[in-house]
Parts: sequence; structure tokens; C-alpha cells
Amino acid sequence: MTQENKIPFLDLITPHLELEEELVSVFRQALTKAAFVGGAAVENFERNFAGLCEVEYCIGLNSGTDAVRFALMAAGVQAGESVITVPNTFIATTEAISQAGALPEFVDIEEQTYNMNPEKLREYLQTACDTDQKTGRPISRRTGRTISAIVPVHLYGQPADMDAILQLAQAHNLAVVEDACQAHGAEYFSRKLGRWRKVGSMGQAAAFSFYPGKNLGACGEAGAVTTNDAGVAQKIRMLRDHGQAKKYFHDMEGYNGRLDAIQAGLLQVKLPHLTKWNQQRRERAAKYNRLFEKAGNTVITPFEPSWSRGVYHLYVVRTKDRNELIAFLNERGIGTGIHYPIPLHLQKAYASVRNVWGHLPVTEKVAGEILSLPMFPHLSVEVQVRVVEACADFARTTDEVTV
Ligand SMILES: *Cc1c(COP(=O)(O)O)cnc(C)c1O
Repeated sequence: MTQENKIPFLDLITPHLELEEELVSVFRQALTKAAFVGGAAVENFERNFAGLCEVEYCIGLNSGTDAVRFALMAAGVQAGESVITVPNTFIATTEAISQAGALPEFVDIEEQTYNMNPEKLREYLQTACDTDQKTGRPISRRTGRTISAIVPVHLYGQPADMDAILQLAQAHNLAVVEDACQAHGAEYFSRKLGRWRKVGSMGQAAAFSFYPGKNLGACGEAGAVTTNDAGVAQKIRMLRDHGQAKKYFHDMEGYNGRLDAIQAGLLQVKLPHLTKWNQQRRERAAKYNRLFEKAGNTVITPFEPSWSRGVYHLYVVRTKDRNELIAFLNERGIGTGIHYPIPLHLQKAYASVRNVWGHLPVTEKVAGEILSLPMFPHLSVEVQVRVVEACADFARTTDEVTV
């Protein structure tokens, strides 16, 4: 297998070469103005990203992890409380909950969408919790903690079923912070409101990451919170900047969580291309689906509910012979990933609280079967054909073994 013949899991080079001149000029501008942190470049990007998400406010930050943490803190999560999320996500989701002083508690996912199962959420709130008579909030019987927020994750670029989640949140007086770190530009059709809503506009606040591999990536670390709540926005502006609204007047302790001007400028160059790149990802996903169907559906392809317009941050298939398939594809120079191989509740980092969470059977089952195939806007049809042919060839070899 020659280097040229290899199929990367992700191509982060081509989109940057296409925009090289514009990107480089951002550096030159920053150097001539010595504008490195905050300032007009950050405000400009914040305004435009808020526009994309159809929200009033966007606050640029240094990472998606801090975006989740600050959003939770600004939404009122207090130390000692619990926050409900899913075990099938990147650990940043639960790190941010812990860093906000709360304990993550888990509900299981839906087997088809891999996102939070609203029925499991309902069951947890109604059968595993008592109600605090003063606040109406659930108190987890497992932990004795008050639950104050829910963090649905729009995993792989597909929106979680927000109507049901928001309704349960309202009934139980819970804040909702969307983890939209993989879903820039995705849309959700609210049957309740009868219209499409942008991911990032549905909770009290939403967190985005601009880590280089995300659908909208900086050339380094960056993140943001979006919200329609002026108070939340103001609190996050203070949290990111040492708790000050005015220089050296610290109303509280905060963090150094600001967005670099250079990263904001680079993101601003890339932002006008996001909708087109997302559309290209959707087309690549549809093409994969058709190719797999023609090849006899040797793997389970992603399911997209009618109310979802996902942005395919990842194209995730499922098969029982996942590890063997990875080795087979690797032999043919095809890069793959697993998102994620070990559910969070089974990670070593959480060994001390594992007994609190118990079993989450759907997550545990799919973690051994999910496989992320090459997916990026510049993926070519020829390459997709090779990937699907390789999966079909693999299926034939395993058939022969079992016959
Ligand atoms: C990437 C990611 C984060 C964290 O973002 P960083 O910018 O890397 O800190 C949080 N949640 C999810 C689901 C992510 O994919």
C-alpha cells in the first residue's frame, strides 16, 4: 500500500490549502495590529456565529470543554448537585460537569440514533428520583443529590430529540445545556413548534467546540457558548475573563477562558464555508447509505429520523465483527475510528462512582459494534466506493468462515 493510496479517516489539509491566502493574512493582520486576545476579530466572529445558530448571543471561548462548564455554571448549576447526561460521549462532557462542581448521572441512549433516549430520561426522573417540594426539582435516590440540569449531546452531528427533553426539563424545573460540540449547523424539527430549529438555540445555553477536527475547526483550540439569555451571556463573559466586567473589578473569581483573536479570525475565514461543507457531508453520507444498500447492507448504516437534519461530523456504522473489520480495512490502507470504545461509566477515571450508575445496556452493547468510517467534505466518490467494497469483501470472508 503506497502512501498515495491510503484513505485517511479525516482530511484536515485540503480545506486549509484552499483557503491558505486568506488564513495567512489573518496572522499578518494580527501581527501588524498586535491584536492577539479579544477585540474586534472576536466580536466579529461571535456576531456571525450567533447568526448561524439563530441566537442573540455568542461568547467565544478557549475550548468546548470550558464552553460546557461555563454554560452549566451560568445556567445556575451549583456545587454538590447532579447533572444528567449520556454515557456515549467524549469525556469532556462529564469533565465539564465535574468541573462545575456537579456529579454526572447517566441515562441510556436510543439504539438507532445513539443519542439520549427521552423515555429513559423520563423513567429516571419519575422512578429513580423524589421531588424537592420547594423547588420542584428531582432528588436522585441513588446519590441524594438535587438534579439541576440536563446535558443532551448532539452526537456525531445528529440532534438529540429536544422536544421531549425540553418538556421533561420544564416539568422538573431543570436547566438544559446542549453539548453541540459535534453539531455546528445541524437542525431539529420541533413538532411542538411546527418549525425547524438550529442546534445551539434550544437549551438555556449550548456549547460548541472549534477543535481542528470538528465541522468548524480553528487552527488550534477554541470554543463558544450560544444563548438567547442576556444574563447567561453576561455571566459567561465574566467567567471567561477572571470574573471581571470592568478591568480589575472582579465581582467573582473566574477563569482564563478567552478566545484568541487569531483563532477568531481564522474561524471567521472558514465560517462562510460551513453550510456548504455540511451539505457535502450530508451528500457523502447519503452516498455511503446507497452504496451499502447496493452491497447488501453488510453493516448497519446511520439512522436519521424525519425530524433531524444532521451534519455528519462522523459517519458511524455498526457490525458485530467490528474489530476484525477495522483490521481488514487497515490492511487496505483505510483509516477508521471508534467513537467511543469505552462508555464513560466504565472508564477508569470513574471507578470510584461506578456503582452509583449501574448498567446502561444499550450504550454497553453498541460500544463494541460502532465504527466511524472516513467522513469529510472533500471525500471523493471513488474513495467511498473503495471503502464500501472493502466492507463487502470483508463480509464475504466472514461468510466463508461460518459456512
Ligand atoms: C470535542 C468535544 C468536546 C470538547 O471540546 P474541546 O474543544 O476539545 O474542549 C465536548 N463534547 C463533545 C461531544 C465533543 O465532541
